[in-house]
Amino acid sequence: MNKKSESLNISYFPYWWEAAEPKPAIHDLPSGTQDVVIVGAGYTGLSAALTLAKSGLSVVVLDTQLPGFGASSRNGGMISNLLKPGLSGLMAKYGIERGEAIYRESLNSVDFVKKLVGDEEIECDLNLKGRLYPAVLEKHLDAMKKETALKQKHLGIEDEIIGKGQCQEDIASDLYVGGFRQFDTGGLHPAKFVEGLASAVEKNGGLILAPCTAKAIKKKSGTYLIDTSLGTINCDKVVIATNGYSGGVYPSLEKKVIPIGSTMIATEKLSKEMVSSLFPTGRMIADSRKMLSYFRPSPDGTRVLLGGRPTVLPSTPDVQARALQKRLADIFPQLRDVAVSHVWTGNVAYSFDALPAIGHDEGIYFALGYCGSGVAMSGYLGHKVALKILKSSEGDTAFDGLPFESKAYYQGQPWFLPIAMAGYKLRDTFGF
Ligand SMILES: Cc1cc2nc3c(=O)[nH]c(=O)nc-3n(C[C@H](O)[C@H](O)[C@H](O)COP(=O)(O)OP(=O)(O)OC[C@H]3O[C@@H](n4cnc5c(N)ncnc54)[C@H](O)[C@@H]3O)c2cc1C
Repeated sequence: MNKKSESLNISYFPYWWEAAEPKPAIHDLPSGTQDVVIVGAGYTGLSAALTLAKSGLSVVVLDTQLPGFGASSRNGGMISNLLKPGLSGLMAKYGIERGEAIYRESLNSVDFVKKLVGDEEIECDLNLKGRLYPAVLEKHLDAMKKETALKQKHLGIEDEIIGKGQCQEDIASDLYVGGFRQFDTGGLHPAKFVEGLASAVEKNGGLILAPCTAKAIKKKSGTYLIDTSLGTINCDKVVIATNGYSGGVYPSLEKKVIPIGSTMIATEKLSKEMVSSLFPTGRMIADSRKMLSYFRPSPDGTRVLLGGRPTVLPSTPDVQARALQKRLADIFPQLRDVAVSHVWTGNVAYSFDALPAIGHDEGIYFALGYCGSGVAMSGYLGHKVALKILKSSEGDTAFDGLPFESKAYYQGQPWFLPIAMAGYKLRDTFGF
């Protein structure tokens, strides 16, 4: 793909790369048997590598492109402490105690990411100004009220339900009927976070090889041979950390995660006064639609960044940019004439039960399926996978042992997505 739109003068590279463009990591293949090879150098793989390297194990992380080239350097940088099924959904399915424990993992993931950034002194514009979930329909607000009360009762989470007027304290838009505020979360610069994690891995003796594609994994007398584009690596353990970019190296996982594209735009540079008038509290924002929009000010306060799935059918970056620009203008009519400077897409990965998955299968470990909310969870589960390899009981999670479902109708090609998206769009419009 060209780097830039000819007609719209929009860059097709993530806005984040202006400050922290992923760079190749070129080295010779290591000789001898490595303790662990990790496939995928996003937050999951890098966080796992960091924990393993700090414990003195020899660890190699491969990325078919560049470190963080997947979702990790492209996302909205919004730190989430929600799980898609909600506390009510988890308690209905797994009972009160297990449901609470599973949900608590999302809180743990936020604590983990804050500590990681602090411990490793990663300069990634971390802010903890909180998050607002504005409701588009009264029906959504009613559901938020119930879920918020449940989270308060069972987990002591102090989210705040607010009405339309209070919503406007956080966002200069009259599109929303109310919503809820979260404290203790916030945002970071995703590509700077990748850069900081990668350098922490290297500082602790881990080896990153990128570009380097893992093509096949073969078992040989208790160890593994990883066939890569640079040659073969021997290792004792393997971690699959490929999330929405899983494709071919470990086919049984591929049938359990559904890659879904998510696209973001950045506006042209605006005045800081303008941006802070749109986001007076600087909170991260994600609305209540099924085809949701998530948006935020850039860390330097000079742009608005907005993401979502812009079209039901696949389309060109220019078409997607126009669709997201229209969404932005619907939220902030003040930005109707503002140009878009960047448009880019990345893949998230859904699982069939809308929960992340962590575990191992015949000595091959994995953590993936963050369902679009992985800024905190992926690094957390990468760390947990590493602790499992180290045989530490601290590697236990409430996700352990949950079924990681596959479906007979799905072989890794999500043919049903346009139908599902069209259904979501109808629900968002008519509220049924
Ligand atoms: C546009 C967008 C916006 C998002 N916004 C948010 C947000 O605001 N908040 C939030 O919580 N989450 C968000 N997410 C989700 C979040 O970014 C992801 O959950 C998280 O980055 C997943 O990290 P990961 O390391 O598991 O996967 P990735 O970062 O996707 O890394 C997987 C890597 O595996 C590599 N790979 C695949 N196959 C091979 C192979 N065979 N050999 C070698 N390497 C291989 C790929 O090249 C890729 O770099 C967003 C995602 C996208 C795409």
